Amino acid sequence: MQYISQLFSKTAGVAVTFGRDESQTDVTNFAQAKNLSLVNMQQEHAGAFAIVDNKQQQIYEHVDALITKTPGVFLTVKAADCLPILCYHPSGVIAVIHAGRAGTTKQITRRTLVALKEQFGISENLKIWFGPRICTECYQIDKKTNKHYDLVAENRKQVEAVFSDLQAEIVTSEYCTACDNDQWYSYRTEGKGVPMNWFGVGLFT
Ligand SMILES: [Zn+2]
Repeated sequence: MQYISQLFSKTAGVAVTFGRDESQTDVTNFAQAKNLSLVNMQQEHAGAFAIVDNKQQQIYEHVDALITKTPGVFLTVKAADCLPILCYHPSGVIAVIHAGRAGTTKQITRRTLVALKEQFGISENLKIWFGPRICTECYQIDKKTNKHYDLVAENRKQVEAVFSDLQAEIVTSEYCTACDNDQWYSYRTEGKGVPMNWFGVGLFT
């Protein structure tokens, strides 16, 4: 487990990663130790998000992003090659996004950020973290034409469609799940049934 130090002032909350050799049990234990309610998503590569407005421990179905301004909640996203995104705003709003190629095509990131802007009144000082994902070089989507897909660039475009550089700061993890497969699980590298890397963000009460 590693803290993502760029996202938070020390007292506000936590943003963390759980990589290879860590499991959902470690995520559950961490949330418990920090007195946060664990909130998961089923994740189906869709374009829908949900707003979490209570402190119940629960699993959201049919969504690939979550937003909350409820302190004491630990929002999580799991991925093994897809791009995990965590967001934090100093007014006390956090979000997680699961952005694979399908979800990216369905504009999951843009939709979630529009909600942050329009429903939560965020107009500046948003911090966005792009986590470990498969890099462009490793992510060939068509063998014949040798076409590659860049998850970071495509999702950066969706951020820029909603917020300017001055309004939102993006911090991008240096890791590729395939290049750095010793530290992160990778579906493309390891195949079906591979465990997931977990990423979480929570605000203290
Ligand atoms: Zn790579």
